[in-house]
Amino acid sequence: MPPRNPNDPIRRRLESVNEWIHGLRSAGHYIFHVLVDDQTQGGWVTVGGERMLMMATYSYLGLIGHPRLTKAACEAAERYGTGGHGSRTLSGTLPVHQELEEAIAEFKGTEAAMVFPTGYVTNVSTISVLVGRGDYIISDKYNHASLIDGAIMSGAKLLRYRHGDLDMLERRLQSVPEGAGKLIIADAVFSMDGDILDLPRVVELARRYDAWLMVDEAHSVGVLGKTGRGIEEHFNMPGVIDIKMGTLSKAIPSMGGYIAADAWIVHAIRHAARGYIFTGAMSPVVAAVALEGLRLLQEETWRVEKVQANTQRFLKGLRERGFDILQAETPVVPIMARGYDMVMNLTRAVMKRKLFILPVAKPAVPEGQERLRATVTAAHEPQDVDYALDMLTEAAREVGLPLNP
Ligand SMILES: *Cc1c(COP(=O)(O)O)cnc(C)c1O
Repeated sequence: MPPRNPNDPIRRRLESVNEWIHGLRSAGHYIFHVLVDDQTQGGWVTVGGERMLMMATYSYLGLIGHPRLTKAACEAAERYGTGGHGSRTLSGTLPVHQELEEAIAEFKGTEAAMVFPTGYVTNVSTISVLVGRGDYIISDKYNHASLIDGAIMSGAKLLRYRHGDLDMLERRLQSVPEGAGKLIIADAVFSMDGDILDLPRVVELARRYDAWLMVDEAHSVGVLGKTGRGIEEHFNMPGVIDIKMGTLSKAIPSMGGYIAADAWIVHAIRHAARGYIFTGAMSPVVAAVALEGLRLLQEETWRVEKVQANTQRFLKGLRERGFDILQAETPVVPIMARGYDMVMNLTRAVMKRKLFILPVAKPAVPEGQERLRATVTAAHEPQDVDYALDMLTEAAREVGLPLNP
């Protein structure tokens, strides 16, 4: 390659990223891409030969390494091979894709469902089908990046409201001009703060202002509701969400995303979403694992109960010990450090004590909102949760994080 002029804008742009990362490394703050050698020992993983309690996982039901999933993967590879002939639209649809979509529709209580290669692509491409130039999207400030990217790509006007401020959501709805399309997008469980969308009130507003409602259930499937069906089950409001989106890469440990909705809506998205049409079919191995994971979620209901019990134990323990955990009410828990140096010191102190918990800082959260984000799962035992509570308390004392019991 020819050497680039030092003022070349693309060179400058790439170098500025590398300089930023280099700065993190020299300060000892680079904690990304940690190499996990073995992840199949329940709630524990092996990192550099040492066992660590995994609390930076989205595998809420502890299904990674489940023998039935491994078997499903092997059998699918034997039956179908590994890749596909092309996109689902042209030559890539297999029976396992249809079975998976039918199973998702049944699980979510909708007429139909469709899957995409990832959850990220699901949001980005679906939103661009639903709205376009001249329409309006009303979005919680803490919504996941894939919802925001989808909103930007769609060309619709993006109106944001302060996290959880539904009065502001209502004012946003009132500001939309007559005749424009209105789409409310929101996470069911907000992955930074671990709180739950106020579905009853959002549904009421959507109906009053004639808006559509799309909810991202990445962190609510397998977690919320008595049988882990998600936010509608949690609030006992079946069928109130127009477009239910979810991922197959978290509680269900495979890859992919889905949309579950009325059949005519899914039909339209299937024939218009560019992230579905212009991409290879989901691998049959991935689809078979997702299908078996969905079955396990419904058969081994003790997993849903266990993650919920561990959540209560963890939240109660943290609050009793005086940690600031905002309004957390789900297995993804913010442990506030409120300061860049503090969150980095706290991370090192917990890592030293064999807790795998990672920090969240800018740009994922605003300055001053730095926190650790810890998750509990059905693979953790109550004594694991207690160990984490003790070690977090020790670590907080070591670095001088104020606790207010
Ligand atoms: C993880 C996540 C996604 C993306 O899902 P992938 O299947 O991992 O691409 C979308 N939305 C939310 C809220 C998420 O947390």
